[in-house]
Amino acid sequence: MSIAVKHLSKYYGEQAAVDNISFEAKQGEILGFLGPNGAGKSTTMKVITTFIPPTEGIVEVAGLNISEHPLTIQQKIGYLPENNPLYLDMYVIEYLNFIGRIYKLKDLTSRIDDVIQMVGLEKEQHKQIGALSKGFRQRVGLAQAIIHDPEVLILDEPTSGLDPNQLEEIRDLIKEIGKEKTVMLSTHIMQEVEAICDRVIIIKNGKIVANERAADLQTQGDVQVIYVEFEGAVSHQALNDIKAVNKVKQVEKNAFLLETGTDIDARKVIAEYAQRTDLLILTLRKEEQRLETVFKTLTQ
Ligand code: ADP
Repeated sequence: MSIAVKHLSKYYGEQAAVDNISFEAKQGEILGFLGPNGAGKSTTMKVITTFIPPTEGIVEVAGLNISEHPLTIQQKIGYLPENNPLYLDMYVIEYLNFIGRIYKLKDLTSRIDDVIQMVGLEKEQHKQIGALSKGFRQRVGLAQAIIHDPEVLILDEPTSGLDPNQLEEIRDLIKEIGKEKTVMLSTHIMQEVEAICDRVIIIKNGKIVANERAADLQTQGDVQVIYVEFEGAVSHQALNDIKAVNKVKQVEKNAFLLETGTDIDARKVIAEYAQRTDLLILTLRKEEQRLETVFKTLTQ
């Protein structure tokens, strides 16, 4: 495993910011770390990147215990911290040179050229960081995170404050990088997870409340919603009278959303109902729950 977190806790005084969490991430996986503000996302990331020590538990990166091999781990991890602190008075090239020298990289000039191309900073490379837009500053942050070709990338809120165009560009860039590396990114934006993550961990009050493939999370919960469209008219009441149906919402003249429990095959129930009552069904499908609904249910 690229990242293995085992029974990790981090206390600030009496307060458990992270409370006995365990999870893993493997190579080629983009892991979304989702949770409301104050849930413990940044704290977890700071521990994984060796910036702060854990109170309890073990974290391994590329099979190495971070407490025993902090310097090796720093070589293997690229980190974009929250709010992307950069030296605003440095020039892009100068800054990447500075970071590259910290890592003692060989062929630094050609590596900087490569990274500038990867993150799309060709036109801005001779500008001062302070003169760049937020989207380009994020690219500089990503460039410094990948310059030493780390196995694991930890990105804390990488798209916060970007406009929709910048957002899409940075997401595409992360997806591209994520094909080869292990990427863990924190966010409180559901669409981000839907757009780029393979797996999602939801954290609340320092505890993990879900750890699923992004697609699977959408089928969680104890409610299923069925969209059904009939050829002819059906009364709202008649559908409400079907035993398994808990709620009916009319969405068009002959089309309805029906809510049932998850313990039955609701489509079968509705198909049987239509047959009994001589109705023709034009459309019958299970609606995917929006991730946003799942998130709210789990974190409220
Ligand atoms: P998130 O990144 O999910 O917003 P954080 O990891 O930043 O959450 O914070 C988790 C909890 O720990 C919050 O209640 C926060 O106030 C607290 N916390 C974070 N850093 C410190 C610190 N340096 N000292 C004391 N409490 C902190």
